[in-house]
Amino acid sequence: MKDLIVGFEHLHRHTDFSLLDGYATVEEYGKYSKQVNQKFLCISDHGAMGSVPRQIRTCDENNLEPIFACELYVNQLQPDTTTIPSMTEFNRGLGTQEEQAKLRKSNHLLAIAYNETGYSNLVTLSSWGWTRGFYRKPRVNHEVLMQYKEGIIFTSCCYNSEIGQAFDVGGEGPAMEMVEKYMAMFGENFYLEIMLLDFSKQKPYDEFIIKASQKYNLPIIVTNDCHYCLKEDSEMQRKMIMVQTGRTMKQIEQALAQNDMADMFELQDSNLWMKSEEEINAKWESDYKDVIDYEILKQAKLNTVSLCEKAKGVKLDRTIKLPAFSESDIKFKESIIEGVVKRKIPRNKEYLDRIEEEYSLICQKGFSSYFLIQKMMTDEARKWYFETYGTSGASAVGPGRGSAVGALSCYCLGITDVDPIKHDLLFSRFLSPARGGKQIKFRFSGEPSFSNIDPIPMDEAIESAPFLSRSDRVWSDQ
Ligand SMILES: [Zn+2]
Ligand SMILES: [Zn+2]
Repeated sequence: MKDLIVGFEHLHRHTDFSLLDGYATVEEYGKYSKQVNQKFLCISDHGAMGSVPRQIRTCDENNLEPIFACELYVNQLQPDTTTIPSMTEFNRGLGTQEEQAKLRKSNHLLAIAYNETGYSNLVTLSSWGWTRGFYRKPRVNHEVLMQYKEGIIFTSCCYNSEIGQAFDVGGEGPAMEMVEKYMAMFGENFYLEIMLLDFSKQKPYDEFIIKASQKYNLPIIVTNDCHYCLKEDSEMQRKMIMVQTGRTMKQIEQALAQNDMADMFELQDSNLWMKSEEEINAKWESDYKDVIDYEILKQAKLNTVSLCEKAKGVKLDRTIKLPAFSESDIKFKESIIEGVVKRKIPRNKEYLDRIEEEYSLICQKGFSSYFLIQKMMTDEARKWYFETYGTSGASAVGPGRGSAVGALSCYCLGITDVDPIKHDLLFSRFLSPARGGKQIKFRFSGEPSFSNIDPIPMDEAIESAPFLSRSDRVWSDQ
């Protein structure tokens, strides 16, 4: 099989940032890359770009080139809406049940940035999905795609794409119309994608893709839609999908037997590991030889390498985008005083001494801006939650987590909702003169994408003058 080794790079790969779908971490992919001879590390999570900082670090550690991508969710009917109630209204306004069913579909679209503008647009598209196009999934519509398509290569993606689903429902005719639509939308930045899977509908679909390629002279890439690193991780990924769909393994097996969930190829397929080129070839040899000519496969593999060459070297603007406070110690003090009044903090010696102790240590260590920024973030999350769900917003970040609940300053600033004196919680567990501070941890509810945001470590934040950490980059990039 040696003569079949021409070069191949994975361009479609999910990490655990594809929540309850991707099993491998970015770091695992990075480490494993050498074993399967990858020079690039392209990550294309579902709707999210949150893994980018870790992708960059992993690439640095493993001498790989990052390629930035995202498997966007698309629905042509998706309106620009920021609140859940208005989405419900929109849904009710749709005349027929058929239209309502269409609105529920979240089709897939692989998008790969090939320059800085493309990266920025990709982040904007992902962000638009989460903040303005969220309906079950973070989604974009065609208008938004057209607005932010510059610098991005789009592919026909998997069977759950608009093309794949047109093929599923209506066969070649409607699918070809969708191909034509994408050609008109994306021009030379539109590629076709084939996969060599066990999923029963993949073979006819690949045959169609090859036909479309020949009809319109479109380039094809071959991908493996990786969801995990190792072959044996397939079982774990299936279990994750079990959690995602809220069904037991038995229920899933029954559903599959009845041909329900037939399009969830992630369930049918145990092929989604990060295959080497040899393993791709072996799959072709055993199962796809009759469907895909060797020359087509060879070109599809070569195209993955040339696409990486085109998309490499995207330089990200990683400058600090956090607010800079002048006189932050004074502003911090003012916020504490406001909080004392608002929270009706008892003005007795115990409380006042504690405030004094915390305030002087926090200022002495140069952390006052850090607290002010954390306040801005939690205030904003609560405000968003209140505007979206109409409830108090308290559940947006919860009462507080970890050792930060031991800080009376956090309680005064509204970062936490726990009075540490009342509950006998120690400030020294959070911050002490002898060692650096811990971090204020968050969990944002109602926004699954945020649940993967790491807390900002205080020391790292200060070190990077003043507040850069990987979490900050997630915030600013999103
Ligand atoms: Zn997909
Ligand atoms: Zn995928």
